[in-house]
Amino acid sequence: MYPKLVIDLKKYANNLKKMIEITNLNNISLAVVSKVFLGAQPLIAIINETSVSYIADSNLSNLRNIETTKEKIFLRIAQLNEIKELVETADISLQSELLTIKKIDLEAQEHNKIHKIILMFDLGDLREGIYYKDDYLKVIEEILALKNVKLLGIGTNLTCYGGIIPSLEIYGRLKVIKDLIEKEFKLNLEVISGGNSSSISLLKGGKLPKFINNLRIGEALVLGRETAFGKRIKGFYDDVFLLKASIVEIKIKPSFPEGETGMDAFGKKVKIQDRGLQKRAILAIGRQSISKDDLIPLAKIEIIGASSDHLIVDLKEENYQMGDILTFKLKYGGILSLMTSPYVEKNYEK
Ligand SMILES: *Cc1c(COP(=O)(O)O)cnc(C)c1O
Repeated sequence: MYPKLVIDLKKYANNLKKMIEITNLNNISLAVVSKVFLGAQPLIAIINETSVSYIADSNLSNLRNIETTKEKIFLRIAQLNEIKELVETADISLQSELLTIKKIDLEAQEHNKIHKIILMFDLGDLREGIYYKDDYLKVIEEILALKNVKLLGIGTNLTCYGGIIPSLEIYGRLKVIKDLIEKEFKLNLEVISGGNSSSISLLKGGKLPKFINNLRIGEALVLGRETAFGKRIKGFYDDVFLLKASIVEIKIKPSFPEGETGMDAFGKKVKIQDRGLQKRAILAIGRQSISKDDLIPLAKIEIIGASSDHLIVDLKEENYQMGDILTFKLKYGGILSLMTSPYVEKNYEK
């Protein structure tokens, strides 16, 4: 059935193997991030066959369903009402609020467990974490006093909200924090988790500071690119995920709507250019499953618009028949929404 998301397991395995080679060379442990594919087990099975240390996801329900012997990391800062499930489901979590961490400690006592945390620091990107200029030693002291929470290490997340690109200067802020904590409390932080796919160009250039010993990588493995500059990574596939959708109408029509124009189906004022007659096709997929801007057609056609359940394309000179299938590469948001859509079949190719 179409629309269909085709997922090439061999290509994913290739990207993962290459990433492991790069991180191993730099003494970096890898947390493979599974949120973009909702922790789907066919892809998890590939991760399970490798030497990676951790599987990380931002949804507890994904994490709960994942079958693995790898340690599970919960990526999103936990909600106060999900602490019980967090302690039951994840081995490690990223945290930034003392109140939450204390609740985790109490819950972990109930379960007779030690829950490990990576304390997040905000180095200026302004998403999650303790702001790097704040007084964090007091927080560390309180965490270290907890019996069922173990401070595994510290981490940061970059190029997420503020678009801050990892650099030696930015990482210098994390190094100061690491050194101060280790000196003040006479301990060694086991994990220094330096970021996501946006750290790969620094890593590949041999410039990632040596004190960083962990990265959490998702996008690079599915799209074969780093995310600081959006560059392709050599030897990686960019088409692990492909969308296939079928043509349900082909007609020659004017490109310019006829009559007085108001709003489209999504309440936006319509702005359309007159380009004369077009050979237009309608595909059976729409905004309920994907934004048209996340689609990259393989054929020389042009996407003109989309409503909830129809995608309109200009077929240009291409010769297509009713029922033909068009294939699209995808952007990150596209993979995320197609994986999440119940209207799209998922097809794993071995
Ligand atoms: C999603 C996420 C990642 C992975 O980011 P990619 O750009 O997909 O590599 C890493 N860390 C956190 C906290 C995340 O939420």
